[in-house]
Amino acid sequence: MRKPVIAANWKMYKTPAQAQEFVTAFLPLVAGQDRAEIVLCPSATSLATVVAAVGGSGIAVGGQNIHQAEEGAYTGETSAQMLTALKVSHVIIGHSERRQYFCETDEIVNQKVHTALKHGLTPILCIGELLEEREAGKTEEVLLKQASIALKGISAEQAKQIVVAYEPVWAIGTGKTATPEMAGEAHFMIRTEIARLQGREVADAIRILYGGSVKPDNAASLLNQPEIDGALVGGASLVAESFAKIVKF
Ligand code: 13P
Repeated sequence: MRKPVIAANWKMYKTPAQAQEFVTAFLPLVAGQDRAEIVLCPSATSLATVVAAVGGSGIAVGGQNIHQAEEGAYTGETSAQMLTALKVSHVIIGHSERRQYFCETDEIVNQKVHTALKHGLTPILCIGELLEEREAGKTEEVLLKQASIALKGISAEQAKQIVVAYEPVWAIGTGKTATPEMAGEAHFMIRTEIARLQGREVADAIRILYGGSVKPDNAASLLNQPEIDGALVGGASLVAESFAKIVKF
């Protein structure tokens, strides 16, 4: 059985004080639940606050991005080592907003996956098709290309540690959710490709999350799909009560 992962991507929202306020409200709402792994991904400026605030609760903390290089003259960037020094355990890589607004290519995403794994960070690797790609019948082609380039040079042992997030770009922040069947079908394609690249054992072990307008009222129907192993939540993760409802789907 794959344990579900429910991850919050706060994007460019919340100051450290607001992040602290969220955690204070959230912890009692999920106390004692062991059904899902919870990961909170605040912006870089709130990471230290959130790590301290979650304390020994078992909730993990993730960054939203790293640079692929170890260190260097890259103004404004954050390295993998800077995250691990804060006791951050996860990092979102290749989010569609990074691909779209910050020119991240599949090759850069692959380099970032390597860097994250080298430092013991669990990558939450995002892939997903644009609306025009879906409408042109290219969903499978796009997903397989993104997955295969992202996993280039990654050993089976390392691949097992990766969490994949399928986020159809047209469903992000739009209120349009993929139907559970559509999402299930995309997850099946991704898992089949991982099996081809890394073997059946890895494909069966890897968690594939769905992201894109996940809300408390649609979480159960998506998460009960056998191919869907959790969720990467944007908007609905900003409010402690809604995110807790999704965690307890
Ligand atoms: P929304 O849940 O706001 O659609 O965002 C999804 C997302 O991009 C999570 O990474």
